[in-house]
Amino acid sequence: MRQNTPWKNRHHRYKRTLTRSEDFTGWRGWQAIAIWIIKGAYSVKTRFDIAVVGGGLAGSMAALAAAAEGWSVAFIAPDPPGPDRRTTALLSESIALLDRLGIWQTVQSQSAALSTMRILDGTKRMFRAPPVSFRSSEIGMDAFGFNIPNAPLLAAARQRINQTAEITTIETLLADARDTETTVELTLADGTQLAADAVFGADGRKSRVREIAGISARHWSYNQTALVLNFAHTRPHHNISTEFHTEEGPFTQVPLPGNRSSLVWSMDPARIDDVLALPRADLNRRVEARMSSLLGEVEIDDGFQSYPMSGLITRNFAKGRIFLIGEAAHAFPPIGAQGLNLGIRDVEQAITCISQANGPENAKAAGLSFDQQRRLDVSSRTFGVDMLNRTLLTSFLPAQLLRAGGLTALGAIKPLKILAMKEGMTPGWRKTAERPSLRKMLREKVSR
Ligand SMILES: Cc1cc2nc3c(=O)[nH]c(=O)nc-3n(C[C@H](O)[C@H](O)[C@H](O)COP(=O)(O)OP(=O)(O)OC[C@H]3O[C@@H](n4cnc5c(N)ncnc54)[C@H](O)[C@@H]3O)c2cc1C
Repeated sequence: MRQNTPWKNRHHRYKRTLTRSEDFTGWRGWQAIAIWIIKGAYSVKTRFDIAVVGGGLAGSMAALAAAAEGWSVAFIAPDPPGPDRRTTALLSESIALLDRLGIWQTVQSQSAALSTMRILDGTKRMFRAPPVSFRSSEIGMDAFGFNIPNAPLLAAARQRINQTAEITTIETLLADARDTETTVELTLADGTQLAADAVFGADGRKSRVREIAGISARHWSYNQTALVLNFAHTRPHHNISTEFHTEEGPFTQVPLPGNRSSLVWSMDPARIDDVLALPRADLNRRVEARMSSLLGEVEIDDGFQSYPMSGLITRNFAKGRIFLIGEAAHAFPPIGAQGLNLGIRDVEQAITCISQANGPENAKAAGLSFDQQRRLDVSSRTFGVDMLNRTLLTSFLPAQLLRAGGLTALGAIKPLKILAMKEGMTPGWRKTAERPSLRKMLREKVSR
C-alpha cells in the first residue's frame, strides 16, 4: 500500500466509543484498555470516504475528482496492462475537467485541437451519403476538443494522484466486497481489508465490482477488429478529423500535433494478419490510398495495437453504495469520440449526486439518483453508435438507405446539424461556464 501522506484527514474516521462500563481506574482499568486496543486492532478496518477500483483513465479521473471534494480516497489500482498507444479525442467538457484536476497543463503540448469532424462515405454501395463536415465554428467554438495520446494522459493523472494527500494508492486487485447497510467492506487480492462509504467500480469491461454488486449487463460483439496506429504525413491536417465509412467499419484519422495523426482502422478480423504482414512501404501506401492521399504521403510509426470490437451496457449504473464508472458500465466501438467522454460524465455525475446527498455517508441515496440520471445519456449514445456501426456493416439495403438518408439530412438541414453537433458534445446541450476557459486554452496553444 502506498500512502501519499500520513493519516490526516477530516473525513478519515475510526468510529469507536467507550462504554460507561469501561472504567479506566486501577488494574481492571488497565486490563480494559488492553482488551480495547487488541479488539480495536482486529476489528477496525481502514476506512475511506470513497474506494475507486481500477486505475485506467476513468478510474484515475474519478480518484482525482473525489479527492478534489476533500474526500479520502482508496485508489485500488494495479499497474495497467502494457503501454497504450491509442489516442483519445476528448470533447470540451472533458478537457475542462482535466484542467480543473491539474492534468491538462501537462498534456496540452502533446495534444491537437479538433476543429472539424468530417464523414466521407468510402463504400461502393448503391446508397452513398454525400460528405458531411461538422465545424466547431458553426456552434461558436474554436474546437470541439483535443486529441490526446493515452500514455502521457494516464502518466499525468498518476503523477497528480501521487501528489494528492487525500488519495492512498493500493497497487493490487480487488478480490471481494460486501455492501452492508452502512458501508462497503472490501477485500483485496493481497488480503488487505478496507471499508468505504461508496465504491466507484472503474475496473473495465470485465468488472469484478459489477459482478460483486450483482448488476447484470448485456454484451454483444461485432465482426470487427480495430487496428490502432500513429503516422506522419506530408500535408497538414488543419485540425480536421476524417472518418471514412467503409463496408468493414470506420477508418478514422484524428490529428496529432504537427504533421502527424492517429488512425483507428476497423476491419474484418480475418484480414488483420494479412494487413500486419505487409512490408511497411506497402502498408504506408495502403493507408495513404484509403485516405485518397488527403494528407499526402504517409509514414507509419512502429508499434501497432488491435482491439476486437464489442459492446456492453449494464441494467443499472449503481446499486446500494456501488457506482459503475466508464467501461464497467458501458462500452461500444470508437465512433464519434464518445467512450471516455461518457465515462468522464459518469465521474462528474457521481460526484454531483454524492455532494447533493450531503456526502459519501449518504451514498445509498446518491446511488439511486445516479442510476436514474445516467440512463438516458448512456443508452442513447450506446444505441446511436451501435446503429451507425451496424448500418455500415450490413448488406441490408433499407438500413443502408437509412444511414445514407440520415447523413444527407444532417448535411443539408443546418438546424438539424447544429442540434446533432451540440448533442454530440454533451447531452441536453447547455452553455457551461467551462466554454470560455476552453477558448482561453486554445488561444494559449495557438499563440505559442
Ligand atoms: C481503439 C479505441 C479508440 C478509442 N478512442 C476514443 C476516443 O477518441 N474518445 C473517447 O472518448 N473514447 C475512446 N475510446 C474509448 C476509451 O478508450 C475507453 O472508454 C476508456 O479507455 C475506458 O477506460 P476505463 O478506465 O473505463 O477502462 P479500462 O481502461 O479498461 O481500465 C480498467 C482498469 O481496471 C483495472 N482492473 C480490472 N480488474 C480490476 C480489479 N479486480 N481490481 C482493481 N483493478 C482492476 C484494469 O487493470 C484497468 O487498469 C476508444 C477505445 C478504443 C478501443
